Amino acid sequence: MSVRGWDAEAAVIGLGAWGSAALWQLAVRGVDVIGVDRYPPGHAWGGSHGGSRMFRITCLEHPDLVPLARRSARLWGELERASGAELSVPSGGLLIGPPDGPVTGGTLRAAAAHGIEVRTLSAAELEERFPGHTAVPKGHIGVWEPGAGIVRPEATIRAAVDLARAAGARVLTGSRVTGLCPVAGGVEVTTPTGSLRVRRAVVAAGAWLPTLVPAVRGCRRGWAGSNCICPRSGGARRRPAGCWSRG
Ligand SMILES: Cc1cc2nc3c(=O)[nH]c(=O)nc-3n(C[C@H](O)[C@H](O)[C@H](O)COP(=O)(O)OP(=O)(O)OC[C@H]3O[C@@H](n4cnc5c(N)ncnc54)[C@H](O)[C@@H]3O)c2cc1C
Repeated sequence: MSVRGWDAEAAVIGLGAWGSAALWQLAVRGVDVIGVDRYPPGHAWGGSHGGSRMFRITCLEHPDLVPLARRSARLWGELERASGAELSVPSGGLLIGPPDGPVTGGTLRAAAAHGIEVRTLSAAELEERFPGHTAVPKGHIGVWEPGAGIVRPEATIRAAVDLARAAGARVLTGSRVTGLCPVAGGVEVTTPTGSLRVRRAVVAAGAWLPTLVPAVRGCRRGWAGSNCICPRSGGARRRPAGCWSRG
């Protein structure tokens, strides 16, 4: 439903993994929402490019994120059913690193806090079960999470935007937002071709976020990941979603 005097109740700026999901969920809840992105949905220039990402319930960043990951898994399933597209592969997931490192240590902490099934493997067991992983340092361990898997980011974004449109969302692509300005009761969203006045704005601009909201700064982490689903390497069963932290 349109709000008098406003172009929409809400705008979602950036339709990558985060913004497309926000647009879909707002639209299905009946919010009059406009999605804006400088590129078409599922493009290759953002953080959500490509055909695969690792999905874990055991959030190694902090155990408190586990309930969000569980909800996200439920919504991913909902999106898959509603769109009819294959958006995930239940491959299981393997994390490798020193037992007290940020990746394996964080995963074990999240699993223990929420009673999630994981299996710890020594370096020798790792090489035997997953022969693709050779030369694992002796002190490193593997953490096998059967409930982890691979999700398909570009296909997921396209499915979310399509379903949002079907639920009434408007989508502007090829529109670069150049400014966000608070106005009485809302926000003015500026693009080179005009501006939108909305009651609320969700800014999901990924790595471009600091250009729109300068107070937010990014951070970097050094991990190596592989989410290989190509048949030539044995597919998801032989090479599950994985992440190896050297420190
Ligand atoms: C190589 C790689 C591997 C990764 N592996 C994993 C993994 O295995 N598991 C995992 O959980 N995470 C992984 N990540 C991280 C994850 O993919 C990203 O954090 C996530 O996809 C980012 O989504 P986003 O929506 O924040 O950003 P993006 O996908 O970059 O979306 C931002 C959107 O905003 C739009 N935009 C930006 N500025 C403007 C503007 N001014 N006007 C209009 N539109 C704008 C962009 O066009 C873009 O569409 C990986 C990331 C990379 C790069």
